[in-house]
Amino acid sequence: MNFFTTVHGKSAVEPPIEVTVEALPKEQVNGNVDNNKPPSKEWGYDLYPERRGETYKPKWSKILLGMEGRENIDKVKCERNVYWCVKNSPLVKLMMGALRSSGCPIDLRRHISCEVCDTTVTGGYDPVMNQIVVCQNMARNEGMVQGVLTHEMIHMFDYCNNDLDFRNIDHLACTEIRAANLAHCSFLSAMMQGDASIFDIKQAHQNCVKTKALQSVLAVRNVTKTEAIEAVERVFPKCYADLEPIGRRIRRNSPDQHRAYMEGPMYGYDV
Ligand SMILES: [Zn+2]
Repeated sequence: MNFFTTVHGKSAVEPPIEVTVEALPKEQVNGNVDNNKPPSKEWGYDLYPERRGETYKPKWSKILLGMEGRENIDKVKCERNVYWCVKNSPLVKLMMGALRSSGCPIDLRRHISCEVCDTTVTGGYDPVMNQIVVCQNMARNEGMVQGVLTHEMIHMFDYCNNDLDFRNIDHLACTEIRAANLAHCSFLSAMMQGDASIFDIKQAHQNCVKTKALQSVLAVRNVTKTEAIEAVERVFPKCYADLEPIGRRIRRNSPDQHRAYMEGPMYGYDV
């Protein structure tokens, strides 16, 4: 039972998620769910059925059509991709080193879980369990899993180092801005290349971060768009400027990932 943060949506765009035990309706905490009530969408819980203690059960009709029943195969593939990233991705390795140096080391079996999720998300961070969820049905290759792990590890890092309260919308907006800034938006090459002026590039990157953070907040919080925009704008200058622990905005197809990884020890990270 938990709370949640972060999620990556399916296409290139995704959001984050949070859920709190305290915030869940009583019936659900007690496992006595009233079926007439919608699941606690307010906290993003419904997006992670396995977090509610349910085992994902494929429908027989879908199994016959070959559409479901692949959960075990998917889980093995997902775990293999996670392992690949931990061994090969400079960003994931940097984040793991930063977490270790911050006193929150990652144990793969304990802290990362491949699960079947709602098809609108690719990953999530559960602060109550201090676990990263990789959505095995959505994040299906190393690249996507790397994106999920880096994004969620930023949330884990913030939860470890800062006094983060995921129920506070400003805190949520801040960690989503940081995750979008350091992971997602930095991978978007189109806007970082071509003949756009430096000013346009900066503007485009900031817009990407704001848009992405906004989607993430809206995906997990039952707040109005105006409330979410206000929260993002309120904390944007401070949180956009905070590049810990990567130290730079990574440009795609650049040596930045390796550079950030090599510089890790300069910031005291044990990579
Ligand atoms: Zn997130």
